[in-house]
Amino acid sequence: MVTFKERLEAARQVLEAASTGQRPVGLADQIEAAGRQAQGLLRRTAELLPREEWHQEERPTSDSLEVRARILVALEDCRVCPHLQTGGPQPVWLLLPLHRADCGLCMSTTGSPPPDEDDRCDWCGSRRARRFRPIILQHHAVVAIGYACPRCAKALLRAGAK
Ligand SMILES: [Zn+2]
Ligand SMILES: [Zn+2]
Repeated sequence: MVTFKERLEAARQVLEAASTGQRPVGLADQIEAAGRQAQGLLRRTAELLPREEWHQEERPTSDSLEVRARILVALEDCRVCPHLQTGGPQPVWLLLPLHRADCGLCMSTTGSPPPDEDDRCDWCGSRRARRFRPIILQHHAVVAIGYACPRCAKALLRAGAK
């Protein structure tokens, strides 16, 4: 079985390879616009969240590779809604406890996390942690929401805090 560490490393390599290529100008604009929209969505979402202490991270990060790699790995366990698969760049809601990557429309449909995953880290899949930290972060056009084990929380927050 492939471990989380191996998946993370593979994601890092993919991202590093991808960062050397250039995107067509029109697409880059669209992605940037989706990113701005996502930032607005993050703020609104933060207002709607329960009082529980959600850690918010919305700054674009200098060590974004770490955050992006972790988002990619988490995405592998998600079902992507049909609109994201066919439409142009738009904000993506990564609802990790639900294993869903949704567009703005689909994210408002209800769902509940699998019943046996109370002890599962939404970010790395580990079941060893006892405590979890709720984290919502926006990275370009992606707003990711999920509970993180101490290890993942540390890595995500450290990457974002720089
Ligand atoms: Zn959708
Ligand atoms: Zn974790």
